[in-house]
Amino acid sequence: MLNLYIKFVTFIDNDNILRVKSKITERNDEGSFLYPILLPDKCEFTKLLIRSVHKKNCHAGIQIMQSLIREKFWIIRARKTIKSILNECFICARFKVKSLSSGPSPLPPDRVNDCAIFEVVGIDVAGPLFLKTGEKVWITLFTCAVYRALHVELVNALSSDAFLLALRRFIARRRRPRIIYCDNDTNFRGAFNDLAKLDWHKISRETSTQKIVWKLIPPTAAWWGGWWERLVRIIKELLRRSLGKSLLSYEELSTVICEFLINSRPLTYISENPQELIPLTPAIFLIENRCSDTTDID
Ligand SMILES: [Zn+2]
Repeated sequence: MLNLYIKFVTFIDNDNILRVKSKITERNDEGSFLYPILLPDKCEFTKLLIRSVHKKNCHAGIQIMQSLIREKFWIIRARKTIKSILNECFICARFKVKSLSSGPSPLPPDRVNDCAIFEVVGIDVAGPLFLKTGEKVWITLFTCAVYRALHVELVNALSSDAFLLALRRFIARRRRPRIIYCDNDTNFRGAFNDLAKLDWHKISRETSTQKIVWKLIPPTAAWWGGWWERLVRIIKELLRRSLGKSLLSYEELSTVICEFLINSRPLTYISENPQELIPLTPAIFLIENRCSDTTDID
């Protein structure tokens, strides 16, 4: 044990306490700071001291603990000793714990298989927004699962009737989707239930209408809708920046949301080399509608 103390000059004071003679004894400071009490590392008193300083100082970290204790004491292997005591603190452990994370998983087939634009869509609603008249409106977003294109429709109610009309407008302008993903909002669920009541044997016998497959994400798994929530966020940011606190009429608002050039945002890297190809954008894939049949929704 004595070998360890050779690094420091120690002496026994009048109260029979072993103290370290620090290198700053010429400084005008507290005696306990200039001549700190020497403490062994594996000693119950040292452990109790560290615990009490840690608690008194709002669960301070190693650096702060070291300087606080150094005011009066010189612990042998201070850093290591303090660290081992701090590692035992339950409260610190609880706050230091990191949430469980997992590696990225592959995208589901509906998001990677070859298909036409808006063949697989995710639908969500943003809002409400307030009009000049004080009325509320919502924006229904139709997002393409593969090409990330966006189509927006304004609705004045969160009802399934209003949603079905917006869906009809979307189909008339874009295309009839094969698969629709949405969350469990009542307007989507209502529309899904209404359409599920139809006699699809009869419809497919008499018309060429294909049944749209509805995939409602589980109510407690909101992250499943991450791919359309991302576009909802873009729309919300654009609205906040362009509108600020101004109130618009229905026509003005529906014009503004059509003017957002979201479909022109590049999906691939923009090169500064003029020889390179132009970046892909959702707009490149947008094509004129070939079929606007909504027999089932009518
Ligand atoms: Zn602690």
